[in-house]
Amino acid sequence: MTQVRVAGITKRFGDVTAVDDVSWDFADGRLTVMVGPSGCGKTTLLRIIAGLEEATAGEVLIAGQPVNHIPPWERNTAMVFQSYALYPHMTVFDNMAFPLRARKMSKEDIRRQVERTAQALDIAGLLHRKPRELSGGQMQRVAVGRAIVRQPDVFLMDEPLSNLDAKLRVDMRGELRRLQAELGVTTIYVTHDQAEAMTMADTLLVMRDGRIQQSGDPESIYWRPRNVFVAGFIGSPPMNFIPCRYDPAGHTLVAAGTPFPLPVRLADALSRQPHDRLLLGLRPEDLTVSLKPQAGAIPARTYVAEPLGRETLLLLDGDFLPPGQHLRAIAAAGVRPAMGETVWLTYAAERMHLFDENSGEAIS
Ligand code: ATP
Repeated sequence: MTQVRVAGITKRFGDVTAVDDVSWDFADGRLTVMVGPSGCGKTTLLRIIAGLEEATAGEVLIAGQPVNHIPPWERNTAMVFQSYALYPHMTVFDNMAFPLRARKMSKEDIRRQVERTAQALDIAGLLHRKPRELSGGQMQRVAVGRAIVRQPDVFLMDEPLSNLDAKLRVDMRGELRRLQAELGVTTIYVTHDQAEAMTMADTLLVMRDGRIQQSGDPESIYWRPRNVFVAGFIGSPPMNFIPCRYDPAGHTLVAAGTPFPLPVRLADALSRQPHDRLLLGLRPEDLTVSLKPQAGAIPARTYVAEPLGRETLLLLDGDFLPPGQHLRAIAAAGVRPAMGETVWLTYAAERMHLFDENSGEAIS
């Protein structure tokens, strides 16, 4: 059981601040996912924890011990990269045995440990093959096998699934999740894929510009994003943002003349503390789309309808939107409006999100 702590970590590359004063306790035995767009600093932070990169400031502690001056190979962390970095001339067995041989384990112990790990990963039948004789998914398993075979205290994984095709990715993320839970090894996992992050994480760290924007369990981040960035990054298709103002007389939001109903708690909050410019956030899955007019529903015109089998994804135009912006909505499978056809939108008031447009912060 190993806790990893970073305290005030900053990393600068010349003028670029890749990681900006980040502090976090990575929970013992759990899977923490660092997620964010390209360049947000997640890989750099992971490499600092691994010892592959030196921090400009701050401290890394593993199991309570400061490790800044301990080389990577003495940190008992195992890293799995996007490129599997297997030795091409060695068999799967030898690739997996490599870190154990480096530790001078007995031949018999190595054989037992490699075979046990290979069985757990369902690659026992591949031990005699060379990497070029493996599929992408099999190579990925071998790379994971090589990482776990030596029973590290901490797994560090940097986009380990991104070379796999979409289906295999989904399969492997479930398997990795299961393996991690079974082994109970503290794991820090880096990805830019929000779906991977949501499905795998015990704890999610959403990062941007070298800083943690929001942390917590995936559900609470999905339901209560702290700011516009997190709201737009977590969830697919992404949340719609509609610029609007609060009308205190009608207790509604008004977007370019169209009133949007508001729950009492938000109307109260806005009456107490006025905000100049607001963004109404509505997730596509939280909109209900009807082909017939409904009382209190908001009209929108169909720009395009994309049937997906189980549901229909709609791109809509509306007088309430800024020029050039579309609204995304997920409708039931049977709702297939023609291009230009008017549809009627409603939403449950508790599903709406509201942000101050200037600061980007959520209003609750
Ligand atoms: P990606 O998903 O694209 O790998 P990331 O979130 O992991 O992105 P980092 O790789 O940590 O981001 O990079 C953070 C910032 O630091 C970026 O602006 C990047 O260009 C910069 N950076 C990273 N490594 C170096 C380096 N060795 N030299 C100079 N700048 C670097």
